Formats: sequence, structure tokens, C-alpha cells
Amino acid sequence: MTQTNTIGWNLKNSYQSLPELFYSDAEPTASKNPEIVFFNRALARSLELDDEALQSENGKDILAGNTVPERAKTIAQSYAGHQFGSFTRLGDGRAILLGEQQTKDRALYDIQLKGAGKTWYSRGGDGLASIGPMLREYVISEAMHGLGIPTTRSLAVVKSDDMVVREQPLKRGILTRVAKSHLRVGTFQYANVWGEESDVQKLADYAIERHYPHLMAESKPYEKFFEAVLEEQAQLISSWQLVGFIHGVMNTDNMSICGETIDYGPCAFMNTFDLSTVFSSIDVQGRYKFGNQPAIAHWNLTRFAETLLPLFDENQEKAIDKAKNMLEEFFPRFNELWLDGMRAKLGLFESYKTDYSLVVDLLDAMQAQQADYTDTFLALTFDKETEDTFTTTTEFKKWKQRWQERLGQEGQSWSDVQDNMKQHNPALIPRNHLVEDALQAAVQEEDYQPMQKLMDALENPYAHSSSQEALAQIPVPDTPYQTFCGT
Ligand code: AMP
Ligand code: MG
Repeated sequence: MTQTNTIGWNLKNSYQSLPELFYSDAEPTASKNPEIVFFNRALARSLELDDEALQSENGKDILAGNTVPERAKTIAQSYAGHQFGSFTRLGDGRAILLGEQQTKDRALYDIQLKGAGKTWYSRGGDGLASIGPMLREYVISEAMHGLGIPTTRSLAVVKSDDMVVREQPLKRGILTRVAKSHLRVGTFQYANVWGEESDVQKLADYAIERHYPHLMAESKPYEKFFEAVLEEQAQLISSWQLVGFIHGVMNTDNMSICGETIDYGPCAFMNTFDLSTVFSSIDVQGRYKFGNQPAIAHWNLTRFAETLLPLFDENQEKAIDKAKNMLEEFFPRFNELWLDGMRAKLGLFESYKTDYSLVVDLLDAMQAQQADYTDTFLALTFDKETEDTFTTTTEFKKWKQRWQERLGQEGQSWSDVQDNMKQHNPALIPRNHLVEDALQAAVQEEDYQPMQKLMDALENPYAHSSSQEALAQIPVPDTPYQTFCGT
């Protein structure tokens, strides 16, 4: 069933220009008595959608999977992936793409319903999602956006009276996810294994045209494409490391070709600085621990390069050499971006050779003393003590003196230094205890106020307002926290 277009839909289906191997048709499963519990007005407007109309009965029915917008050709996408290192055939088992909203600047945004019901790829699953994990994705993805980190966005969460069967029956939820695309490393792996060589090329051409159109005229477009994806990932992972974000499930199907953070399952932010931090209950080996994220990104990019080898060179040896050379660029580039980001967090404008050890010595001391990562940088920014008393230790005081000497060498005014630090050290992050409390109120009591309040505070974490300060308290002690790949 379609309806008149007062909402402003301008949906394209460019993805379906790819061979049918890459998708299968899918219809959303309707939901009973849907209610929009969160709606992202600013995002709706940036997509040139009428935010009032989208929240009306008609709009709600689309967000609830009960009807589809004009010209929507709904599909589920095929992909594969290395999950914790093992290769598997996957695909959208609980997500349905409505189409790509094209804005006036001709940009395309995937509009996808997550928890939309069974698709061809659902295997034994029900294709549904419970409300809690959808709310969690909403708050964390929007927090990431507020932090200035590329991410898929969340347009709305709809709750319905349908129940989904998990360990206990839970209310169904649907998240409307917005992404520059859902092309993944795993999409290339899928084409490589289940398609012809020409399918990988078609996919690469599509990805280049959609995300890196300036490379179309290059004489070696596929190498440039690979380098561009590598650069986006180096930037993305360095931005995660700088705020203490732990993705938790960096499988190759969860690495986006356009460099957005995607798939908010067991992710969480680190409190006390510790490179071995793992939150996910299923990551028993610590494969995706905080300190491993750059190495995993490199591993995933290696899997990506493998799919592109025939496009790099028809001579396999030469193709492998090219891939190796490009992959070698990852760590130097990541380190450069990360160190630049750390300098900014410390209010430094220039690069000195000694900066790396200055940064690492602070982090080592934080790790040894179990200091809170975010709070330590705030203490430096506002010249105050940390709640966990790390700043009263002799080790920290000695380090602070070195830092002040280093600042003195640049001779910037304190107000310029502090401004730089305020822009790079968030006043707050979505602390696990705050997220859990807000989710509990939303899911158990249908009280959405705590979550709204948290999201408002996270909208611009670099504002350093008094309302943010009230939510910035660190958990003392930092109690162990576990996340689950909730569906
Ligand atoms: P994820 O953990 O979200 O990356 O999902 C891994 C794979 O499992 C993807 O192919 C999902 O589509 C699929 N999946 C997750 N939950 C469900 C579900 N409730 N029903 C069917 N497929 C699912
Ligand atoms: Mg996934």
C-alpha cells in the first residue's frame, strides 16, 4: 500500500542497479498499535522530510513498517563477513531498506528499518528487534554524531504492542536507520565468494560513484578507492580511540565502506583508561578490546584488499605487492591522526618529537592508577582535580609539570590553549551507568524523560554547559559492565 507524498520522500533505488545477487525483495512485517517514542526532528529536516508529516498517522505507519513510502522498492541486502575471525554468509536478516532519500544536493541516504521482520537472510531468526537495543542504538549513535564522529544516524524509534520472544517476552521496537550507505567490507567479500569477478568490479564501481566520485577519472581507480577507504578507516578508528569508544564487534560485516560507525550492538564507552577493556559478553578472547581496535581495522582492511586483488592487477603477485604496500600505510597514518588528536586534547598546536612520549606517559600513568579517561582530560582543561583523585598522585603532578613546560615552549595564551582543549575534550560521554538507567526507565516504565535529558546533554558535548556537568559524574568505583549483542 502506498500513500500520497506529503512527507517529502524522494526515494531512489540506485542499489538495485547492481546484479540481483546483491539483494532480495523483502516486505516489512506490520506492527500492532505503533507509537513513535523518539523522533529526530533535526535529522528529518536535514533529509528534507517534513518532520510534522512524518510524525502523523501516515508517517508513523511507514516508520512502523505498516506501509511503505511512494516509490519505495523494499529490499534486504546480501553480505558476508568474518565474525570473530570466522567467515560466514550473512545478509540483512532483520533490516529492510526502503530506498535512498535524495536531497537537493543530490546526496543519497539509505533509509532502513531495523527490526522490520523476516527476510530471505533471516535463517532461524524472527527478523525482529526488541525495543531496548533499538533505543540504545538511537542514543549512542546520536551521541557519536554529537562528538563529531562519522556514524549511521537514527531517525526514529517506534514501539509496538507486538511481543518478541527472547529469554523473556519483550516489546518489539523498530529503529529507522539513516546511512550514507550500507556497503560493507562484507558486501565485497560476498561478491568475491558468491559472485563472478565482474560482480566485484560492479560493486566497486558503484561504491566509487556513490562515495568517492572524484576517483572515477583516475587511471587506477581501484587502488585509489582502496586507499580512500583505508584513509576513512584510519580517521574513524583514531576518533574512536580519542574518545574511548569501544565498538565491541568489529566483524568485517560491521565495517562500512564510507567510513561511518555502523552496528551499535555491544558497544560502550570506557571509563577508567585500560587498553584491555572489553564490554561485550561474547568477546571472551578480547579480540575487540579497546587497544586492539586499530589492529582489527587493519585486519579487516586486509580482507577487503583480498577481494579487490584482481582489480589491482591481473598479475596476482603484482596485485599482492600493491595491496601490501597500501596496507603498510595504515598504522603510520593512524598514529599520525591519533597523535594529532591527542595534541589537541592537551591544548598543543605544534608538533614536537617528544610529544609521543608525553602522551603515552600520561596514558600509562592513567592505566596504572585506573584513572578515568574523560575526567582526566577535563581536569587538565579546567585545571581542577579528578573525582578519582588521580590528579593528586605524585606521578600525575610530575607529568603535569612536563606538560606545562611543553605548553610554555609554544607560548600560546592560556585562553587559546583552553579553547583548543574544550573543543577536543567532551564535557560528557554516554556513560554506561547513565545509559542503563535511562534505558531502564524507558523500557520498564515507559518513562522517556531520562533518555531525552541524556540525549539533550549529549547533543553538543563540547559546549561545557552546567547541565552537562551534572551528568558528567564518573562512576566510583568503576563497576564491571557487560553488554550483550541484543536483538
Ligand atoms: P549483527 O549482530 O546485528 O551484526 O547481526 C549479525 C547477523 O545476524 C546479520 O546477518 C543480522 O541480519 C542477523 N540477525 C541478527 N538478529 C536477527 C534476528 N532477530 N532475526 C534474523 N536475523 C538476525
Ligand atoms: Mg552487523
